[in-house]
Amino acid sequence: MKKDIKSLSFEQLNNEIAELGLPRFRAKQIFEWLHKFGVDSFDEMTNISKELRKSLAEEYFVSSVIIEDKYVSKIDETVKYLIRLNDGEYIEAVIMKYKYGYTICVSSQVGCKMGCKFCASTLAGFKRNLLAGEIESQLHVAQRDLNIRISNVVLMGIGEPLDNYDNVLNFIYNVNNENGLNISMRSITLSTCGIVPKLYDLMNEEIPITLTISLHAPNDELRSKTMPVNDKWNIEELISACKAYVDKTGRRVSFEYTLINRVNDSPECARELCQRLKGLLCHVNLIPVNDVEERGNVRSSDKAVENFLQILKNNGINATIRRTLGSDINASCGQLRRKKTEVS
Ligand code: SAH
Repeated sequence: MKKDIKSLSFEQLNNEIAELGLPRFRAKQIFEWLHKFGVDSFDEMTNISKELRKSLAEEYFVSSVIIEDKYVSKIDETVKYLIRLNDGEYIEAVIMKYKYGYTICVSSQVGCKMGCKFCASTLAGFKRNLLAGEIESQLHVAQRDLNIRISNVVLMGIGEPLDNYDNVLNFIYNVNNENGLNISMRSITLSTCGIVPKLYDLMNEEIPITLTISLHAPNDELRSKTMPVNDKWNIEELISACKAYVDKTGRRVSFEYTLINRVNDSPECARELCQRLKGLLCHVNLIPVNDVEERGNVRSSDKAVENFLQILKNNGINATIRRTLGSDINASCGQLRRKKTEVS
């Protein structure tokens, strides 16, 4: 079976090109075509001889994705793409415009196995992991479509990135590579529901990306109700891993806390959260829950959100309320793939 050349890291590509008996500069040329220019075929690699292109195409394929649908928010210019993969599966990517540049939110899997109760991504089931090249191709098609340069990446689309570890790591190394998109590690954020052993693997990579933990509850009883992953690795194990992460990388850890009316938004919950996070170099992002029809969750009131924030701040915990972008285009959490699989 042919291998995806776009999913190889720079080092792996160098090794494979050396094994083919080719000079080292060829690997760099090919890498640039794939990652800096985002070509979808060997034929576009015009500084490489026809014969070599042909023999490469016998061993490898170039992973790619295409834009199926595009939704542009009238409120804030957020763009959401429904993206089709070569096997007919669908994923989503979102482009958000901030003062400092464009951020892309990419998917890492087709569907998700994690089963979080408030999230739309698991509703349509898990199909497969994305290849590193398919994760990166989301950047290439969006950049081309909007004629922009993306400066920040968040792995917060469909899927659990740490459940597709090798592909996600190759993706991160490749977009960071100076021969590719050259996006700085500090501009890359990985969000996880808390696969603890993989957090230890990640800290051992010693890369200064931003780590975000989807916490959503201050105690195990509450967290296990909405996040099955908590039955495997509980909050204590998760926070210990975060402490180790901060010690090892010197990077602040972020926590996502989605506020759901009368579920996890009480002042007691806020105080319990403060106890949990005491002494940890961290930041808390409070997110009013997005209504997902099938999930039936209700947003916390503005007052409850403000109150929650104030309690965290009074206890010396860094916290902010996440601004919602693209709310008129279902720009969150697997909602488009869900719709597509419903109708097809
Ligand atoms: N699997 C990873 C990344 C994908 S989810 C993770 O769990 O972190 C990205 C973020 O969106 C997570 O914090 C997730 O908990 C949150 N999220 C999911 N559904 C949501 C909803 N309906 N409203 C608000 N945030 C939601």
